[in-house]
Amino acid sequence: MRKIIIANWKMNPSTLDQSLKLAKSIGFDSRVVICPPFPYLNQLKNLGVSIGAQDSFWEREGAFTGEVSPVMLKKIGCKYIIIGHSERRWVLSETNDIINKKIKACLAEGLKVIFCIGEKEEERKRGKEFDVLKSQIKEGLKGILIDDYSKIVIAYEPVWAIGTGNACSPDEAEEMRVFIKKMFGDLAVLYGGSVNALNAGDYIDKASFDGLLIGGASLKTVEFKSILKKIKL
Ligand code: PEP
Repeated sequence: MRKIIIANWKMNPSTLDQSLKLAKSIGFDSRVVICPPFPYLNQLKNLGVSIGAQDSFWEREGAFTGEVSPVMLKKIGCKYIIIGHSERRWVLSETNDIINKKIKACLAEGLKVIFCIGEKEEERKRGKEFDVLKSQIKEGLKGILIDDYSKIVIAYEPVWAIGTGNACSPDEAEEMRVFIKKMFGDLAVLYGGSVNALNAGDYIDKASFDGLLIGGASLKTVEFKSILKKIKL
């Protein structure tokens, strides 16, 4: 299976010019989906970049100030939507129930969902990482038909590894990947959390992930390009 590389730019860079420059410097790689802040989506799409969004609301339209709907994201050309990122769960208090509504709404529009799951550090310390994943998956995908699973990609992102430089070891990550695959069979599973040029290849070659979700390193051209080089397919 061709690998999927999701570049999560989070709330960066701070100008449109910088974002166009960054996208151009990365070059065009058909495995890469760039997920920039909403205001840059259109221009990046016009550059010919494959785009995704970092979030979506669950309603199609209406009185929901500040929100962006899956219909709008589809029309602008988004391929994937990240749902349930840990920064939304833990900074913006998104619950599994909210995440479930968002996933359903995106699937209804024919969008592909990058569904993020992952345990916090203290949950892992208490040996609860499998239970946390199980309930995030069960509640996040409640009521979603098995037929729709092919449109969902799971991103295993341990919260303690995101943006910390403290990446999950490939062995530990693989344990979680195997657990997720046991629940879902053929579904693609990505790893995310402090991926860099030195460790990227291990998640693919040793831990057998189907791709990567990359935050900080996707904003650094040289680092990101060397990550891409490490991934053969
Ligand atoms: C992320 O934003 O999902 C992420 C994994 O960030 P980083 O690569 O910076 O840890």
